[in-house]
Amino acid sequence: MIPGDRLVVLCRPGFEGDCAAELAQRAAEVGAWGHARTRDGQGLLEFFPGGHHPLSLLAGRFGETPVFPRQWCAAGPLFEDLPEGDRLGPLLADVDVPVADLVVETPEGDAYRPLARLARRLVGPARGVLQARGDWCPDDPDAVRLHLVLAAGDAAWVGRSPLERSSPEPGGIVRLKQHPEAPSRSALKLEEALQVFLTPADRHLLFDGRRTAVDLGAAPGGWTWVLRRRGVQVLAVDNGALAPVLAKDPEVEHVRADAFTFEPTTPVDWLVCDVVDKPARVVELMARWLRRGRARRALFNLKLPMRRRWQAVEDARARFERVLGEAAPGFSLHIRQLYHDREEVTCYAAPRS
Ligand code: SAM
Repeated sequence: MIPGDRLVVLCRPGFEGDCAAELAQRAAEVGAWGHARTRDGQGLLEFFPGGHHPLSLLAGRFGETPVFPRQWCAAGPLFEDLPEGDRLGPLLADVDVPVADLVVETPEGDAYRPLARLARRLVGPARGVLQARGDWCPDDPDAVRLHLVLAAGDAAWVGRSPLERSSPEPGGIVRLKQHPEAPSRSALKLEEALQVFLTPADRHLLFDGRRTAVDLGAAPGGWTWVLRRRGVQVLAVDNGALAPVLAKDPEVEHVRADAFTFEPTTPVDWLVCDVVDKPARVVELMARWLRRGRARRALFNLKLPMRRRWQAVEDARARFERVLGEAAPGFSLHIRQLYHDREEVTCYAAPRS
């Protein structure tokens, strides 16, 4: 397989510049450098690193917990003029590494919908080719995830990534269906966050039917509803009204108060917050709760209406650690732009195990 000279990266359309800024900083932090090639609004960029092979970058510290990249792989140049009758032939010809997983994917967006259908149709045949050649090795610990990233019906990148550093979902998109009873679309944000940030074992342990939560900025109640479905008792803080399904739930207490001054009488397991305010104010609030032991873990959203969003994320992280002070090493903070996030990112702060 050709070694690859670039990372092919998928992100939310409109966030290519933020994604490029993040990649450049990640590279600098590990002594590498690089430049990005992107077209705004495409949700796609190529990042050409200097000084390091892109696959070893992904495997190292560079590849830990990305914020704006939803999916990435180390790839070579774009294959063009693929024959309609045998697109897979040229794409898979040089793949000579053990493959444990395969994703065929496209950038996000309406313009890519027909291509996404083609991508779905190619998965089975591509896996068949790899199996027939003996390259399909799901149990091989050294096997990689193989990516076919379609740029057009006749053009694609072939990439690979370490399994634990990329998503098994095409485009890194966790697709969830809105439940008809969910009070708001925001429910999907929290549901996705729980899927992305927690392992199945974590979810089992952390939602064992005995947990408590405070939901700041709860109305109309999508997040409270998600927590209730996982058996959590919720204090829902908002001056706005909760959906009727929650208003009559005895395990939900609606508190009409200001999120920035509210204090529970006893500590809770979960603090969640979807208040629309400055990232600095929200991270400070979250860090204060954790520092004082008022909550064990916090899951919250930072709204990013500003232009330099990567910088805003970095500032928020630094402020969070500053306010946590001596308690900071005891917590990890994961920040990620989820599929159901718009001009925002979702953060999960938890005690280090
Ligand atoms: N997570 C909610 C859901 O799933 O339905 C949606 C939350 S909505 C984006 C933001 C909420 O924050 C609004 O209901 C608003 O009333 C509330 N809010 C804004 N500032 C607040 C404050 N200082 N204190 C309490 N609630 C606040």
